[in-house]
Amino acid sequence: MPVELPLAPLQRLTLPWLAKAQVEAAILRLDLIDPLVSGNKWFKLRHHLEQALDAKAPGLVSLGGNHSNHLHALAAAGKRLGLATAGLLRGHPRQTPTVQDLQAMGMQLHWLGYEGYRGRNEAGFWTPWHTHYPGWHCIPEGGGGQAGAQGCASIVTQLHAQLATLGWSDYDAWWLAAGTGTTLAGLVLAESGAHAVHGALAVPEHYGVAETVAALAGTQGYRLHSASLGGFGKFDDQLLAFIADCEQQAGVPFEALYTGKALLALKAQVEAGLFAPGTRLVFVHTGGLQGRRGYL
Ligand SMILES: *Cc1c(COP(=O)(O)O)cnc(C)c1O
Repeated sequence: MPVELPLAPLQRLTLPWLAKAQVEAAILRLDLIDPLVSGNKWFKLRHHLEQALDAKAPGLVSLGGNHSNHLHALAAAGKRLGLATAGLLRGHPRQTPTVQDLQAMGMQLHWLGYEGYRGRNEAGFWTPWHTHYPGWHCIPEGGGGQAGAQGCASIVTQLHAQLATLGWSDYDAWWLAAGTGTTLAGLVLAESGAHAVHGALAVPEHYGVAETVAALAGTQGYRLHSASLGGFGKFDDQLLAFIADCEQQAGVPFEALYTGKALLALKAQVEAGLFAPGTRLVFVHTGGLQGRRGYL
């Protein structure tokens, strides 16, 4: 059963440091596709949702932290499609705005502790959950894997369908935040080398993003840039001030874990001269705004 994805609006992105380097930029607003299922997670979940519907699975089960954009999107998508959802959470019970939403959307929560969560990639991890939720569709952390990457390939189609609205006949490169690298891999697959894809790493190098992308999409057609600022989920006042400036100048909201860091890394590269004057860039707003309640 096909799951339809709403079209993400394409807008011009105007910021003084882009103008100064004569770099033209557009922003593909995945954050605006749906009030609840925000950003790239809808694209990553699409094929998983189709598989679950085709298999007539009674529900969906996946894992994440207590601010997880992925679990948030899964709970909303499940509710929308009439599928039950269960979330396996890292750590101990804690009431965050995200957790409150998960409960309100009817997701069944199981807190695994930190030790229990660390076992998520071990053989046999899913066995008790298959018993607990017979026939449910299990989705890997973050909605990754081939199914996730393939769902993200349609981000490229969505851009192409709207390029003319900017008066652009073509573009030079993509810029987006990478966590697992699944979304980036989807773009690389869809582009097959036609346009460069730049990933700003929201996680430290040792998280193995390069290996994930290589396994999903090969080693060509993209470049990864460090952008984690000391670790996943870490941010400081300087980043928050930068985000506030960009929001005011561009009229677009960003958060501090992914999109804000990606934008800051872009500024550094633009100022270092990575892009020649006249370059046309497409920044993907991967969403995640639900997670910023509590700090912005
Ligand atoms: C999950 C997420 C990402 C990372 O996506 P990957 O496919 O794991 O690289 C980027 N931005 C936001 C806002 C996210 O929620």
